[in-house]
Amino acid sequence: MEYPSKLIEDAVNEVSKLPGIGKKTALRLVLHLLKRDEDQTELLAQSLTAMRTRVKYCRKCHNLSDHDLCSICASHKRDQSLICVVEDTRDVLAIENTAQFKGLYHVLGGIISPVEGIGPSDLQIDSLIARLQGQEGEQVREIILAISPTMEGDTTAFYLQKKLKPFNLKISTIARGVPIGGDLEYADEVTLGRSILSRIAYE
Ligand SMILES: [Zn+2]
Repeated sequence: MEYPSKLIEDAVNEVSKLPGIGKKTALRLVLHLLKRDEDQTELLAQSLTAMRTRVKYCRKCHNLSDHDLCSICASHKRDQSLICVVEDTRDVLAIENTAQFKGLYHVLGGIISPVEGIGPSDLQIDSLIARLQGQEGEQVREIILAISPTMEGDTTAFYLQKKLKPFNLKISTIARGVPIGGDLEYADEVTLGRSILSRIAYE
């Protein structure tokens, strides 16, 4: 495509690098930004830069956070004896939306996938063990493995369960209602909420 301006072309190229956005959509968005007030584009650019430079990972659960400790870990209202282990931040959001879970989380940052070359050492497993050893001042009694019931998810749950065994904890897994092979974030809130409440012992 021939662009009337190199500046527009650069903007279109950058926007079209986002997932799901082709050149045509990128051009439409860029032209839309040009039509809006300059301050609005400025605000958009500022918020993206601030997000990119200042968002960090919670030092305890590795959820995304603005501070060293995320708002869930820092809350006195949460049950510190219960940790729900999830694959990524999107799962935390999905479970929080159900308003059924009052414990803490641990975000693995992925799941074990030999095909993609992701092994246990690439995930936040050592830091989970450290939490169970009380290094973060917690006294954990129960772990819920809320990992998608895919083949990689099952492999990850099996590996974790072996690692967690020596700690003599109650280990449960969410089950009912989450479709086999399905992704947690796509389960509806009621179904996901119920599957946390009716969790079953991991075998
Ligand atoms: Zn946290």
